[in-house]
Amino acid sequence: MGSLDRPLVIATRNKGKLAEFKELLKGFDLEVRGLDDFGPIPEVMEDGETFEENAVKKARFTAKVLGLPALADDSGLVVKALGGAPGVYSARYAGAGANDEANNKKLLKAMEGVADRQAEFVCVIAIAVPRGPALIYEGRCQGEILEEARGKGGFGYDPVFYYPPLKKSFAELSPEEKNKVSHRGRAMNELKGEFDKVLIWLQQRLLEEPP
Ligand code: IMP
Repeated sequence: MGSLDRPLVIATRNKGKLAEFKELLKGFDLEVRGLDDFGPIPEVMEDGETFEENAVKKARFTAKVLGLPALADDSGLVVKALGGAPGVYSARYAGAGANDEANNKKLLKAMEGVADRQAEFVCVIAIAVPRGPALIYEGRCQGEILEEARGKGGFGYDPVFYYPPLKKSFAELSPEEKNKVSHRGRAMNELKGEFDKVLIWLQQRLLEEPP
């Protein structure tokens, strides 16, 4: 069976994210596609209370709408002293459509004078078929919230997230350094380590699908 018979849709319109997944999955007998390879499809509501709920929802919805196996991820920052905020609201912490700068500003303000600076990035990857169960992979990375932004690289909360083992903020790491230790890198490595089994799982689930 050629790779054209084995499509996997990455449920994203983000080109950077799609490229990362394509790189991760190259070498496997698959045709990896992004949402932009299909016409307009309805947006999924990311209204889950956990990263897992959102990732599964996105993967299931995409698989169902397109009738193809789909992979989705959801990620964010969890700050202990803030009761887990911004959590699943990481992208819109400072309001709908907020940019990274506004989100970081709100976070630094909320953490002013707070002694416990512990935080972790979490990434959950879900793989689903049009019907039936989903597979879940998770990666975490522990660090501390800085008192002010440091570094120019990365995106999102990277400038305010200090990673003690490398004594740098995530925004001070090269992309390669960050990928080795980040929540996303770890979730991806877990997935990659099992991908041969995932392909068999997909094949079996698709054979069980009613015509
Ligand atoms: P999404 O899962 O791609 O929707 O990401 C949710 C939000 O979490 C992003 O908008 C960022 O604010 C934050 N986030 C996720 N991963 C990272 C990261 O690696 N660095 C910094 N911020 C991140």
